[in-house]
Amino acid sequence: MLVDERETALRAMEDGELGVHATKTLSAVAKYCRAEGYDRRAIEDTLLGLLTRRNWNNPADRQSYARKIAAASDKYGLVRIDSIQMTENEMDACGRLKGVQIQRLMFTLLFLAKYGNAVNPKNNDWVNRDDGEIFSLANIKTGETRKSLMLNNLYGQGLIRFSDAITNLNINVLCVDHSPNADENAAFTVSDIRNIGAQYMLYAGEPYMRCRACGLVIRRTGSRQMYCKDCASRPKNTRASDTTDLEHTRGDR
Ligand SMILES: [Zn+2]
Repeated sequence: MLVDERETALRAMEDGELGVHATKTLSAVAKYCRAEGYDRRAIEDTLLGLLTRRNWNNPADRQSYARKIAAASDKYGLVRIDSIQMTENEMDACGRLKGVQIQRLMFTLLFLAKYGNAVNPKNNDWVNRDDGEIFSLANIKTGETRKSLMLNNLYGQGLIRFSDAITNLNINVLCVDHSPNADENAAFTVSDIRNIGAQYMLYAGEPYMRCRACGLVIRRTGSRQMYCKDCASRPKNTRASDTTDLEHTRGDR
């Protein structure tokens, strides 16, 4: 599951946590409330309640933040996206690049563009995230200079272009497969928004694996390893149930 705003909203309303993307969480709550028939005032009050619980900023700012999100909640319905299918053409576009890091970056950008398209049909293959988040999702740790060089490399090959805005780095991905039979040519399925780069490595046949409890894709460090670090350090009965069956592990190639 990539995103389930209904689930996000219910969790936030239950435990009051807004997570790292507070605006996204609050927007999910607002859309959920609207779907449940709350009027605008009631939606605003619910958001305000959450912000107050988190002691977010000062009361006046809370009010205007809540009002803005409540007002925007009628634009789109609750989003739920199980997975994104990457096509053979797209995987080939990544595979043709020289070097596994830049392949991971291209794969991550392709995924983010397609994910953006799934969330908003008017997205048109754009990625609107800061480069820190993009490289972190791609599991690439490197300096700022090299990050720019990698993006410029993709630009030079005509695979991406940048928006005119100088201050932010919106990226338009130019190698999304829009061929009419793209849907039938799924080569790889992404159903976890964490460690996108590692998922590419798994596809590429590198020694990577899916945690049997939480599904996180990680580099394999031992032949008998079954869990990610987090799950391995947790007592067995508090782990999520083992969902990764054999088919799941094999079916990704
Ligand atoms: Zn895990």
